[in-house]
Formats: sequence, C-alpha cells, structure tokens
Amino acid sequence: MRILKLATIAFFLLAWGARAQAPAGSPFILKPLGQNVWAAIDDARGDAGANAGFVIGDDGVAVIDTFENAAAARQMLAEIHKLTKLPVKFVINTHYHLDHVAGNGVFAEAGAVVFAQRNVRTWIHTENRKFFGKEINPEQKALVEGLTAPEAVYEGGSVELYLGARRIVVRYYPGHTGGDSVVEIPDAQVVFCGDLFWRKTLPNLIDASAGKWLETLAKLGSVHPSATFVPGHGDVGNAGDVAGFAQYLEGLRQMVAAELRQEKKGAAVVEAVLPQLKARYGTWGYFEEFAKSNIMDMEAELRGEKKTQQPAEAP
Ligand SMILES: [Zn+2]
Repeated sequence: MRILKLATIAFFLLAWGARAQAPAGSPFILKPLGQNVWAAIDDARGDAGANAGFVIGDDGVAVIDTFENAAAARQMLAEIHKLTKLPVKFVINTHYHLDHVAGNGVFAEAGAVVFAQRNVRTWIHTENRKFFGKEINPEQKALVEGLTAPEAVYEGGSVELYLGARRIVVRYYPGHTGGDSVVEIPDAQVVFCGDLFWRKTLPNLIDASAGKWLETLAKLGSVHPSATFVPGHGDVGNAGDVAGFAQYLEGLRQMVAAELRQEKKGAAVVEAVLPQLKARYGTWGYFEEFAKSNIMDMEAELRGEKKTQQPAEAP
C-alpha cells in the first residue's frame, strides 16, 4: 500500500516476524498452505502492497491477485517457475483496488486470462484514480489507465475454473467494494478472501457497506469452519481470525452508533470513538492510517449517507 500512502507499517509486520522468513530481495513471503497452494504475504515494508497467492493444478497455475506493482508480480511469476513448468492459465482479481491488480499485465503477457467480477472491468480504470487524490499527476493517471482489465467476467453467484481435475470456485460476496470475489480451493480447504478479510489489520472502508460485509463474514466462517483463510492484508488465518475481524466491524458500528444516539456528529464522533477503538485495536495493523476514516465511514453508513460504488453498465 505504498502508493496509498501507507508506508509506516513496518513496526507491526516486524511484530509478527515476517521479515525473518523473507528471502533477500523478495517483496513478499511465500507460505506453503499444502497441496501446492501458496500464499504470498506482503513483506514488512509493504513492498508488494497487498497479499496474493497461487495454486498449481494438473495442467496449469491459477494466480490470485497481482500486488501493487509489476516488480512484485514478476517476482511471483519467477517463484512459480521455480516450482513448476506449467503455464499460468488464470489470474483471478479479488476486487479492483490498485494494490491487488497492478501486476495483471505481467501474467497476461505470459498468456494468462484475467478473470474477475464484472464491476472490476470498469472500476479498475475509473475508481482507482481516487487513491491518488485530487492532485493525481499524469504518470499516475497513465498508470491507472494502463492497468490490464479482466477479459473474462461473471456477474454474481459462483463460477468454477479447472486446472485439469483441480477445481477452483470463485464466489461473489458483497460488503467491501460491491465487486469482490472469494476464491475457494476445496481440495486443500483454502479460501483466498482478498480484502473481505483483514487479519489483525484495520480495513479500508472507502467503498464498504459494513452491514452487508458482516453478513458475508458470518457466512464465510460458517461455510468453511476449518479452512485456512488468506486475507488481503495481514498474515494467514483461520475462521477464528475471520470472526475477530467481524468483531472489529461490529464493535466499530456499535461505538459509532452510541455516539450518534447522543446526537454527536463529525469530529465529535471521532473524538469520542478513537480512544475506545485504540484501547481495543491499537495494536492492529494500519491503526494510525485507517482508524479515523473508519469512524467517519461508519458514521456516513449509519446515517445512510455513505457513497458506495454503483454497479457499472455492462462494458
Ligand atoms: Zn488491499
């Protein structure tokens, strides 16, 4: 999330010891999850910008998300080549945010089909501009315009992709952007959540509907009680960690709602909620970066004033 001005994250990532496992020069830590499923966890400095991963099947490889920059994507392609001679057949984008799609072109050039929920195809080139703010410069504009969009999309429900006999299920879930997919590897009991799950890390609520998101998290935990969950940010977790993240959103909602009942608004809500949030979640990743905006986003949602993405016209 460097580009998203979130560079001060080294302290908490160091706390969970990630640096020790990172090979020199790699922007991510590769974690084997069994049966040729791999998580690529962003390094301590945030050099990859987000987590990603891949699955090696019988006749090809599926990649889940492509980091915030092409250099990290190229590094992951090199790691895949060390493990298998099979080609990358699919790239699945869990959502449109820049930190998960910037390396799409690396894999498309290598012959992969980029696949995502339909809204990603449009939003990748429109909504990503907002992460650079109003002062977006020509190079940043060009970067967003040059992102490789999905060339295969689905609307909702679920889609199955096959790597030979190996089945991958891509399933739509609401809450984070309105264009999010979860990627399930049933034979390995691994679920790649993208940014629907942040492990011990405050989320970006810029496009979120927390109400729908909480329903999604409850479903993920109950459908996959013993799965390994790969978050968009933070280390690999389990259903308990997913529940812990849901507790964060629910707690935030309750804290903000209590202040709204006192007829507070804006800065007064932030002032009242921030210390409570810090007492409970001050050690979580991105606390300094997202705590205030999380409170403001939650207030807007509870007031029915939250701007969320409207599904685009069919591209
Ligand atoms: Zn992200």
